[in-house]
Amino acid sequence: MDNKLLEELSNSFGPSGFEADVKKLIGSKLTKLKIAFKEDKLGNIIAKLGSVSSKKKPKILLDAHMDEVGFIIKHITRGGFLNIVTLGGVAPSVLVSSLVKLKSDDDKFITGVTTTTPPHVSKDKKPEVEDIYIDIGAKSAADVEKLNLRVGSPGLIDFNFKKLFNQRFLGKAFDDRVGCCLLLELAKKIGKNTKLINEFEFYISFSVQEEMGLRGIAAVIEEVEPDLFLAVEGTICADIPGLSDDKKITELGLGPAITVMDRGIVTNPKLIKFITNVASKNKIPYQFKTPAFGGTNSGMVHKMKKGINALTVAVPCRYIHTQQGMLSSTDYDHTLKLLESVVKAAKPVLK
Ligand SMILES: [Zn+2]
Repeated sequence: MDNKLLEELSNSFGPSGFEADVKKLIGSKLTKLKIAFKEDKLGNIIAKLGSVSSKKKPKILLDAHMDEVGFIIKHITRGGFLNIVTLGGVAPSVLVSSLVKLKSDDDKFITGVTTTTPPHVSKDKKPEVEDIYIDIGAKSAADVEKLNLRVGSPGLIDFNFKKLFNQRFLGKAFDDRVGCCLLLELAKKIGKNTKLINEFEFYISFSVQEEMGLRGIAAVIEEVEPDLFLAVEGTICADIPGLSDDKKITELGLGPAITVMDRGIVTNPKLIKFITNVASKNKIPYQFKTPAFGGTNSGMVHKMKKGINALTVAVPCRYIHTQQGMLSSTDYDHTLKLLESVVKAAKPVLK
């Protein structure tokens, strides 16, 4: 795992609909790899690997979404507190008592903290998002405006990437910057494999607004029209005390998680057979994600056009959709190896 690259991606600011910083970072990495890319009107990045040819060939598309869960300002109180609306699934319990970062209209980051009721006056009520305010130290609404923050300004719970022991890492937005990191590493590894790339057209995309209901990917599919689609993700991992085995969903350290069914897709058994055969042949450990939790861009993609072969492969991440997810670089490395092997063996599935 390229720890440095994952750190840069994880620390980057990109709530759904406000992915500009992540886009800039990924754009600079693609340019460095001499990979041409374009940005569509929704803000998705689409890159084609290998050289352009006029011959019609089957197409593979691997996608990771750039956006992360966050919020925007809903209302500014006269006293200068900020009320918020969440972007994607953020639990109110996660928002309470957190350090946050907001982005102003002049692209400055403003630090704040979410309000909590002191235990001395607490009414024992579980907070809702509408009960939580952000305090940036402002004395009035005018103070907030002076900082170029307004209704609609985006923010997120802040956290800086950290390495733990046992090859485990903590960071925000692993869903889905871990996917972005995997695609960049994969592009570096096989982007120059001309023999492979001559067999089919190979695309990678970095999509927007997945957390808002799989919105960005539809435009990518209209553009690329792939024959095989892979959503490369960071997924739920709840292998923690207090939960029964059927609720673990995935386990840290057991390898890439393959989705057989989630809220958006029942994966074609032919594709499950294909990917598990590839894993076994290459001695790559894997696990099945427990059905039917979560959803990915595959849920949107498989029913588009005239039907598209779609698969989801993910790195297990504990504490997903909080400010600090945890992943194992061993799972990451096995996922990268699996993606590389899948691309190399994909020819029969593309027929
Ligand atoms: Zn995701």
